Amino acid sequence: MINNKHFYIKPFLINFVVILLVQGLFCSIFFQAAFAAPNNSATKKYDALLVEYNKLKANKDKVRFRHNWEKIINDFDELNRSNDKALATKSLFQQAKIAESLSQYTRASQDVKKAISLFNEFIKRYPKSEFIDNALYSRGLLLLALNSETAAQKDFELIIAKYKKSEFVDNAKSELEKIKKDKPKVANPVIPTTNDKFEALHTELLNNSKNDQKNTVKPNIQENKTTVNNEPDPDKAQKLYAQAVKEWKETQTKNSKAVKNEVWKKLAEDFYQAYLTAPNGEVAPKALYQAAKAYESLALRTQKNADWEQVATSYLLLEKNFPENSLADDALYSAALIFKDKLKQVDTAKVHFSSILSLSKKGDMYGKAQKQLSSLTAVNAVNVAKENVSKKNTKLEEQKEKNTEPKVDPKVDSKGNSPVPTRLVEQLGLDIKTIMIDAGHGGKDPGAVGNGLTEKKIVLNMAKKLGEKLTKMGFKVVYSRDKDVFIPLQKRPMFANSKKVDLFVSLHINANPDSQVSGIETYYLDVASNSGAIKVAARENGVSIGKISDLQAILADFMLGSKLSESRDIAKLVLENMKTSVRGGNLKVSDNGVRSAPFYVLMGAKMPAVLVEAGYLTNSNDLELLKNDLYLQKITDGIANAIMIYKKNITNIAQR
Ligand SMILES: [Zn+2]
Repeated sequence: MINNKHFYIKPFLINFVVILLVQGLFCSIFFQAAFAAPNNSATKKYDALLVEYNKLKANKDKVRFRHNWEKIINDFDELNRSNDKALATKSLFQQAKIAESLSQYTRASQDVKKAISLFNEFIKRYPKSEFIDNALYSRGLLLLALNSETAAQKDFELIIAKYKKSEFVDNAKSELEKIKKDKPKVANPVIPTTNDKFEALHTELLNNSKNDQKNTVKPNIQENKTTVNNEPDPDKAQKLYAQAVKEWKETQTKNSKAVKNEVWKKLAEDFYQAYLTAPNGEVAPKALYQAAKAYESLALRTQKNADWEQVATSYLLLEKNFPENSLADDALYSAALIFKDKLKQVDTAKVHFSSILSLSKKGDMYGKAQKQLSSLTAVNAVNVAKENVSKKNTKLEEQKEKNTEPKVDPKVDSKGNSPVPTRLVEQLGLDIKTIMIDAGHGGKDPGAVGNGLTEKKIVLNMAKKLGEKLTKMGFKVVYSRDKDVFIPLQKRPMFANSKKVDLFVSLHINANPDSQVSGIETYYLDVASNSGAIKVAARENGVSIGKISDLQAILADFMLGSKLSESRDIAKLVLENMKTSVRGGNLKVSDNGVRSAPFYVLMGAKMPAVLVEAGYLTNSNDLELLKNDLYLQKITDGIANAIMIYKKNITNIAQR
């Protein structure tokens, strides 16, 4: 019996424990599902992404790099598939809104299209969501930016008809009115995607040089169709302008507080209409300038970004269409200031300040622009340094975490370094393994020519020397050309991207009308650092110095994906090592420093990229050097050493 008793109690106890356990398990699942949902990991990730996004928007340095935006946007993908419908809904909505913000920042059509497709998906999947009116309104604005007015109109009409209590009804109504009036939309010009724009500008530059036409750059503005189709009417433009000036003067005499916003807006539009009526007429530049001034009066009151953008656009339009006009440099300077102080787009501001340096007329804004540029560059350098320090600290922390693992690694050396860092360098995509050597020019394009030498031949010789040296050092080498063939400039960085190389080195020989100018210099891609850099960029790009301002303007887009600080570091190392190597061979060469400029051949490269100018064909000292095979060997040895030092440095940073 005792045994039996035990026999019965035991299973009961076991059953009881099992029941408790199972119940507990169910309970905990139930509790988690029913009450703990707001704290689950998906919700945490959603919150973290929003925090990350707000940090990005607040960080002026990071906000200009496309990959920072795209990372956050892509990270929402996983949450969109969540079983928690409320979470999936707001996640997709946020993703679309952030894509919309990116498109407002870049104004690139690819980004506008991406945002539209996300809103399409949202509207299709969650037609009853509380955010639906907001989504329709955003999509409407994005469609307008693409000039799809009919589709935009449908979205605005739907908001008014179906969501009568929505806070977006008033805005939708005013957008509809604008569409019906078919006003010129100055506020949101959409710039074609990076590549389209690159191609378009390139074609335009080629056409311009062929036809020798100046000032044919069209504004990025969708103009009033009826006006564009009409013949220009200078007399009417004169009258409209005179009328607007009269109204402007009357407004000036009034107490500014008594003037309503609408008055400034109407004045701006009247001046703009005067410009459109005869875009090449005598009053056109003045009309644009006045339009900008009137928008500025409006923006000063509203302090809205959209209004400031309108001011900047009008100024830029003036400079684009009338670069020879005496108002051009003032307009450009004013636009740059707005980008810097009001729109907080420092990079774009830099581009426009820099464009002032390349205007053909050196106006009174030249010195001012130079000052602005140097102060902005100094601020930028400090920010880059800060970011590098914080990157280093993050790596240190990651490293510490890994080192505290209790496992003993036999490969740990005396300093306590484990082999992990090398992998870390790879994970961070920093390691240099494959290098593209780009011998400049070739085929029908000889590059600089002088004193019996051609640039294309010298640089091909250098490319082969550099390739041999790097291969011996253990690098993999890819050549953009290994014979005398013509390769268009813009194809070279694209080729480097497709080959997934880690570093792009472009080799060149310089020339200058002044035979006294001599020496070596290295370049990285940024706005031009001085007028000498503009001259070199103009020559290497095969465009006039005046056209460099267009290149500066499109540069901002390419900067989003460029490895600016890495390129600058490598450019410094290359210059230092070329100098040391050449002087070690008892040869004399002068050092012109590291410079930045907008080079076609570096634009669009996704890896660090540097351009080397190894001396001037037009200078007698440099000419003797360039004829000397020892000099070319020393130059290429210097470049190779610099690359090796850079590779070791980044590995050491990760190991420290
Ligand atoms: Zn060249």
